[in-house]
Amino acid sequence: MAVLEESAVRAALATVDDPEIRKPITELGMVDAVALGADGAVSVQVLLTVAGCPMKAELTRRVSEAVSRVDGVRSVDVTLGVMSAEQRQALQQHLRGDQPANEIPFAQPGSRTRVYAVASGKGGVGKSSVTVNLAASLAARGLSVGVLDADIYGFSVPRMLGVTGKPTQVEQMIMPPVAHDVKVISIGMFTPGNTAVVWRGPMLHRALQQFLADVFWGDLDVLLMDLPPGTGDIAISVAQLVPSAELLVVTTPQLAAREVAERAGSIALQTHQQIVGVVENMSWLDLPDGTRMELFGAGGGQAVADSLSQSTGTTVPLLGQIPIDQTVREGGDDGLPVVLREPRTSAAIALGEVADRLAKRQASLVGRSLGLTPTSR
Ligand code: ADP
Repeated sequence: MAVLEESAVRAALATVDDPEIRKPITELGMVDAVALGADGAVSVQVLLTVAGCPMKAELTRRVSEAVSRVDGVRSVDVTLGVMSAEQRQALQQHLRGDQPANEIPFAQPGSRTRVYAVASGKGGVGKSSVTVNLAASLAARGLSVGVLDADIYGFSVPRMLGVTGKPTQVEQMIMPPVAHDVKVISIGMFTPGNTAVVWRGPMLHRALQQFLADVFWGDLDVLLMDLPPGTGDIAISVAQLVPSAELLVVTTPQLAAREVAERAGSIALQTHQQIVGVVENMSWLDLPDGTRMELFGAGGGQAVADSLSQSTGTTVPLLGQIPIDQTVREGGDDGLPVVLREPRTSAAIALGEVADRLAKRQASLVGRSLGLTPTSR
């Protein structure tokens, strides 16, 4: 039988990622001690970033599993401790690298992250549903994805993605919970219960600044920001904080929704942001006889795209039309986006196609030289 070496156990531990930070626990200074006993008994002491870390059980499972796979290991005993203040400081330093406190990584020249601010003229058009489904879809394509739910009045992203946990704080950093491979931060995670949030502009601006700068997003390919409906302060804040953020406008075919969506999109004119495109949601209902019922009329999405193309002087495409489908609502209620839950439904396919178009743009970033990424246009 192979002689059990500590180095083999440590190598196994190096394959274990912290569930929240998503980097190897060895690199994060979380492995405090490894001891080899007689007869292949191994004990590992792991340090949690904070006491009561919600990921305790998951971390223990991952460590036991990885170590038990090492040749010669008969049993694994995992004990958990908590990092000291100095250790947490060191971890924060390690994760931040050169990024100064309060600096928004996505706003820096050379940032590889595409930031999409998902906007709508009014509530209830499916902006959050579109956001979470695009996020899940892009993550399933192997991209590293984050969602920032800035919809103060109707934060629904955590429920739609099935996130119940609260973020862990390590010194000044906030570790976002992860669901379906998507990192999620919502203003709803910082308010007690289901209370309504009455926040004024400057507070919103500060909250957004903090979410962008203090959350440990890691190297994201895509950050989707779910904005509150309308043309409020927060859209302006986004433009100030992340000038390279592009707007993605969600509307329904309805005339009223179309008019307000155009207004929301026209913000981009004032802030010099680009509009990546328009998604028309609730476009029709497929009936059992194969016909389509256009509950909210027709043509709204294309009309918004045309109108925004005209006002901005750029081509704003209609990225997709998403039918009304009970499974979209069910997926939202169950915390499992329809693109994962029932990927063969017409709504899931349409959402997946929008994600494909965004992923293609992402691919075009590869090889783009650093420093040429515009921070404002
Ligand atoms: P918003 O973020 O614009 O307020 P939501 O995403 O919360 O809108 O959607 C409003 C409601 O409509 C939710 O109950 C959601 O499940 C449902 N919904 C959204 N899009 C669809 C769709 N394509 N088919 C069926 N229900 C949908």
